[in-house]
Amino acid sequence: MVANLRPPTIPITEIEQSAFCQTDEDLSARSLEEEFGAGVRWQKLPLSYMRMKPEELDQRIADARAKLGDRAVILGHHYQRDEIIKYADFRGDSFKLSQLAASQENAEFIIFCGVHFMAETADILSSPEQKVILPNLTAGCSMADMARIDDVLDCWDDLEGVLGADNGVIPITYMNSTAAIKALCGRNGGIVCTSSNATATFEWALARGNKILFLPDQHLGRNTALKFGIGVDEMIIWNPFKPLGGNTEQQIRDAKMILWQGHCSVHTRFTVEQIAQAREKFPDVHVVVHPECTMEVVLAADSNGSTEYIRDMVANAPAGSVIAVGTEVSMVNRLASENPDKKIFCLDSVVCPCSTMYRIHPAYVLWVLDGLNEGVVVNQITVDEETATQARVALDRMLAVV
Ligand code: SF4
Repeated sequence: MVANLRPPTIPITEIEQSAFCQTDEDLSARSLEEEFGAGVRWQKLPLSYMRMKPEELDQRIADARAKLGDRAVILGHHYQRDEIIKYADFRGDSFKLSQLAASQENAEFIIFCGVHFMAETADILSSPEQKVILPNLTAGCSMADMARIDDVLDCWDDLEGVLGADNGVIPITYMNSTAAIKALCGRNGGIVCTSSNATATFEWALARGNKILFLPDQHLGRNTALKFGIGVDEMIIWNPFKPLGGNTEQQIRDAKMILWQGHCSVHTRFTVEQIAQAREKFPDVHVVVHPECTMEVVLAADSNGSTEYIRDMVANAPAGSVIAVGTEVSMVNRLASENPDKKIFCLDSVVCPCSTMYRIHPAYVLWVLDGLNEGVVVNQITVDEETATQARVALDRMLAVV
């Protein structure tokens, strides 16, 4: 049986208001039934899984995983909780995981502990015989949800209306977008990027066109454009709820960067004030942030880069270093425990995990593993062939430039 492939639609406001933000640091998993009490929508699953205590889940996942052996590979994004990451055969950021998904030729099943757009990408890059599974279908991404394909198609039509069909606009979409948007980039001379390779993809695009439409994260787009000497006065924001994105025709003609009005609800929590406080408390602190943070925060930090960059930077820092990190707290806590000889802390004192990554609870992982051991595939993610073919063009361009 293949379950319904579309994730339930969850209003952005619900995703953005993380019910898991708290002021103490305990993010240990509880039974799923208890976590349901947070008041957000989750995918329903049998009561027996919901009531299982963390220790029982742990043992049963280990047994079910061992039984499946090489037939399955588990990929875990850095932002997953520890109780999930411990079962990941591979962990990484979305770029590393997309490469790993493409290279897992022998695994029948790819269990993607991340969010929906990542599982879609894994399906596009894996072979037709492989099945990609997202343990909880409600694990989406609020940023990806801010760019709906219909709105992006309208934007593309508007740009052609103002600038003409052969207009030199190169679309770049961040990995955190739907397969349909990656396909639009593929068929219109565009490319996909991640936070690891955004600079290389900008170089690629600027060699082929004179304007970039960047989707859906305005901050990564702006922070990367600044590295190319593009000034903020040469950038416009595209608000999908306004005619021409809220711009005049002249503004569109003059712009070098057209930034979609999207953002990450996790990374925009970090502020310049938090950086100032960290510096006041620890004069020798090194502040490293993710480029999904605002321009002001990136400029106030000492360095910035993808989750892989941050991980390597912390690992290679000398013993005794003090490092304040502006990225998702599950990852920061893991970095702290993996580097006990350094002081690693999150810039934001309120513990606030990515609420959609957090929806991959161990009970879901056990549920899908049990299903596979019984010959039942649940939560398979598939992308239709036409979309996948066009999206693969944009993804292959990305894999070729880095
Ligand atoms: S951290 Fe931000 S961009 Fe990443 S999955 Fe969560 S909401 Fe999306």
